[in-house]
Amino acid sequence: MTQAFKTPFLIFLLTLSLMTGACSTNPATGEQQFTALMPAGQEAAVGAQEHGKVEQTFGKFIQGPLAQYVGAVGHKVAQNTERKDVQYKFFVIDSPVINAFALPGGYVYTTRGLLALANNEAELAAVLGHEIGHVTARHSAERVSQGFLAQLGAVVLAAATDSAQVANAAGLGSELYIKSYSRGQEHQADELGVRYINRAGYDNFAMASFLNSMAASSNLEAKVAGSSAPRADWFSTHPQTENRVGEASAEAAKYASNTKMLNRDAYLNAINGMIYGDSAAQGLVRGQTFWHPEMGFTFSFPNGFIIQNQPSQVAGVHKGTGAVILFDAAGDASKADPLTYLTQTWMKGEAVQNAQTTTVNGMRAASGSFPGTVNGKAVTVQMMAIEWQPGQFFRFQVAMPNGLDSASVDALKKSTYSFRKMTASEKSSIKPDRISIVTAGAGQSVASLAAQMPFDNYKEERFRVLNGLRPNDTLVTGQKYKIIVR
Ligand SMILES: [Zn+2]
Repeated sequence: MTQAFKTPFLIFLLTLSLMTGACSTNPATGEQQFTALMPAGQEAAVGAQEHGKVEQTFGKFIQGPLAQYVGAVGHKVAQNTERKDVQYKFFVIDSPVINAFALPGGYVYTTRGLLALANNEAELAAVLGHEIGHVTARHSAERVSQGFLAQLGAVVLAAATDSAQVANAAGLGSELYIKSYSRGQEHQADELGVRYINRAGYDNFAMASFLNSMAASSNLEAKVAGSSAPRADWFSTHPQTENRVGEASAEAAKYASNTKMLNRDAYLNAINGMIYGDSAAQGLVRGQTFWHPEMGFTFSFPNGFIIQNQPSQVAGVHKGTGAVILFDAAGDASKADPLTYLTQTWMKGEAVQNAQTTTVNGMRAASGSFPGTVNGKAVTVQMMAIEWQPGQFFRFQVAMPNGLDSASVDALKKSTYSFRKMTASEKSSIKPDRISIVTAGAGQSVASLAAQMPFDNYKEERFRVLNGLRPNDTLVTGQKYKIIVR
């Protein structure tokens, strides 16, 4: 989480009053479009307005050489599009989630999580080409006109809880959901992306190879986290179909062979040293413990919780018991004491039970509870507000299924009471992981490079997914590969 002391979960709801109902032909798709034909100037205005919320929702933009490189690749692709009335702008979000998306008006976003997965410039170009395709085909304008609500944290929470009360308590509207592109729109964006990268001289098959890596990464993520882990990646906003890799290949084969530019070394050079996974500014998950070196606090989840560090909160779900822990930060302008804050501000209007003051590792705090439901199960939601400094609170919401065994209840209680300040030595020793580009020497193998990575499990599988290697692929001596270092 990055957003301390702000109201979490900005919800963007758009109402467009200036929609025109005219029908016209789209230059990229050749189709007649009736819905959502905003004038280009209005698309730009809507994009600009939504763009202002992207950093708060998804993470800060990365500045510097990496962002410049991504922008240069994006503009190379954008030069080959049909719509000259769009000013394309490219941004890299400091998020470990693998995602890319576009807003009307030519705002195109990718994450460093996605950059870590791509293996060459052509694959990056393909992703940007796909997103540009959504803009040129006006899918993103159509989606906004339908009331675009896309918030990755919300997807995860929606997967974890169906309680309107919990959702409201977390600052979420109960109707929050994600609107995906349609299957047909995805196919069209893939086609347009292949067209644009072909024109730019990149290998036509880069779309297919990236989608293949995406699928491999998704499969591995599911294996690592357990099969029903909540998903918040490119496939959740861009629906996966089993055919998408094959279709992108077939599309690529339609084009005459071009220079097949990959620019692999230039790409790997650009991402060398990039943070992988969570950053210090977002807080880091190590085992069952959450560390926030920048803000200087830590707490631990009970064993068995799957932890998601999202921009506005940290969420943990126990798949066995169905217990949920949500952690976030909030400001309180009135600088009230914790009990007043909990009952009068945070839970204003709710019938809070058992409200009382307490202390957590020397910090003033207040707790209380209310009955709710999570995934159809009756739960007791236990709230805890811990005063970090006057007017600044860290907050836990723990959804405990009714009838939970006492050992699990104790573990949940222990978790909220584990919140404490980090020591100076902890602050200097807890560091994010980074991508390191290494050249394979003679005698090195997938196993030997994978062994250098700081993971507890699936090292070799992670190395293969990261480098786009299939199960039986071996290293090529002298070629560059990505490893993760701590
Ligand atoms: Zn898409």
